[in-house]
Amino acid sequence: MLQQTTVAAVIPHYKKFFAQFPTLAALAEASEQAVLREWAGLGYYARARNLHACARMLAARGEFPSDVRELRRLPGIGLYTAAAIAAIAFGKPVVPVDANVARVLTRVFAMTTPLPKARPQLEQKAAELAATEAGQKRPGDLAQALFDLGATVCTPKSPRCAACPWDAFCAARAQGIAETLPRSAPKMPRPRRFGVHFWLTDAAGNVLLRRRPSRGLLGGMSELPGTPWISEPYSEKEAMAAAPMPAPWRHIGQVRHVFTHFALTLEVFAAAVPRIETTGFLCPIRDVHAQALPTVMRKCVSLAETFGLMTANADEAREIGKMRRRRL
Ligand code: SF4
Repeated sequence: MLQQTTVAAVIPHYKKFFAQFPTLAALAEASEQAVLREWAGLGYYARARNLHACARMLAARGEFPSDVRELRRLPGIGLYTAAAIAAIAFGKPVVPVDANVARVLTRVFAMTTPLPKARPQLEQKAAELAATEAGQKRPGDLAQALFDLGATVCTPKSPRCAACPWDAFCAARAQGIAETLPRSAPKMPRPRRFGVHFWLTDAAGNVLLRRRPSRGLLGGMSELPGTPWISEPYSEKEAMAAAPMPAPWRHIGQVRHVFTHFALTLEVFAAAVPRIETTGFLCPIRDVHAQALPTVMRKCVSLAETFGLMTANADEAREIGKMRRRRL
């Protein structure tokens, strides 16, 4: 949960998740939808699917592997996580290299090759550290010490070299280049993508949702029906052609969301019809927040909420919409 997410944001999700799935067996037995529902709001949903698949694999296997190579065979466990589990949970002599450790090592050894090209060099230095007495005898403590050194002393902007236990050996400090390391390759501008999604309700108080394909971005999550996300904005004609069914559609606004690899702009249309007859599934409007919706779709739901569209009663909807917009 903590990868790419702050501790403050994670704590309530962590407590709720463990209350729901207190054991590996409970997680393994849960449905993917139930796991995704508890993960909703944390982003990077592939982690939730991998965690679930990993729990199932471990439950079937009946034991937790302790070796880096075996750990890496588990879904969602990359080199860093495998090394961290092996060192901290099983006392194996390996040094996990996260962003903090990478920063410390590039500075101590004054590595000027930009990341990620410097990665093999970093792994080599990590292996050398693992072979030292501390790395052999107390690998878990060495890993934690490196994490803490990077997080509290060898910080990205102003490293506190005077307080650092490694200042005498640090090549970057000796050369006066600590703050310029680690170097990274120039960033490419984030590409933009565009899409259209539809808030469609019926007279019985349902909203139309659909499930995304189980693999790929936001795999297995629920969403409002919509278009693929492409590099050019859709014209209104194209948007209407993609609507789930003919209806008195009106444009209610725009939602913006930034993913790691692209920035997304969605146009949102809404309509109410007596009966919904199209593919997807119907969800009572009042239960929509309990669905496994990714943050970008929660933003679309909030937009519908702003327009008072969370009710099937047209008069009530108009009044709520007026009140909400006056407050904005
Ligand atoms: S001496 Fe400074 S740059 Fe070197 S590891 Fe310590 S805090 Fe980082």
